[in-house]
Amino acid sequence: MVFLSRKAVAAAAVAALLVAACSAGIAAAFMPAESTGLAVVIDAGHGGWDGGVSAGGVKESELNLELAETLADEMERRGIAVVMTRDDDVALGETKRSDMEARAAIIASARAECVVSVHLNSFPSQPSRRGVQVFYDDTGRGGALAAALQARLNARINAAYCGRSDLQPQPGDFFITKCSALPSVIVECGFLSNAEDRRLLSRKSYRKELCGAIADALEELLI
Ligand SMILES: [Zn+2]
Repeated sequence: MVFLSRKAVAAAAVAALLVAACSAGIAAAFMPAESTGLAVVIDAGHGGWDGGVSAGGVKESELNLELAETLADEMERRGIAVVMTRDDDVALGETKRSDMEARAAIIASARAECVVSVHLNSFPSQPSRRGVQVFYDDTGRGGALAAALQARLNARINAAYCGRSDLQPQPGDFFITKCSALPSVIVECGFLSNAEDRRLLSRKSYRKELCGAIADALEELLI
């Protein structure tokens, strides 16, 4: 069972830091951002036996987790609590179905404003395809969130790194975006089948910039 409140983990870490800082006589200590009372679910796609797509020695499940952790840090810095569906390289079930149902159960019990599922794309037959693209279920409530998020990612990331700002959010039939009543989106953070996207995503500074752009957009849209 995986149900993780990163806020609780973060609070414990801050308490430990404060104790360490006080005993060391250090006046300044890290203080968490003031809470907005809001929360989001961040779902790192795949994990464990389900590696997702892979290319150039990069496995989607591992990079999804790196990105999800970075996004969680960025959300918490903005005072928005995070519930992660996983924070380790594990699947949540022995089959795809049980894995997805476990994610749905976490989403159902989280008191959150929205769900962001983090994935990476791959399109080997057109390796020139690049960029960050948002997906949603057109029968669900994610359409407006997807459009607003895509517009901001086009302006901040795709224009700067791919030279284009016309990527459109894509509707589709996705379990994770329709398993709850929450506005839910999948963010495909780049194409592993594109060498330049792979190179960018291997850089911690780029991952932080991308996740910062997603967090800024969510903060603006939720508050
Ligand atoms: Zn995926």
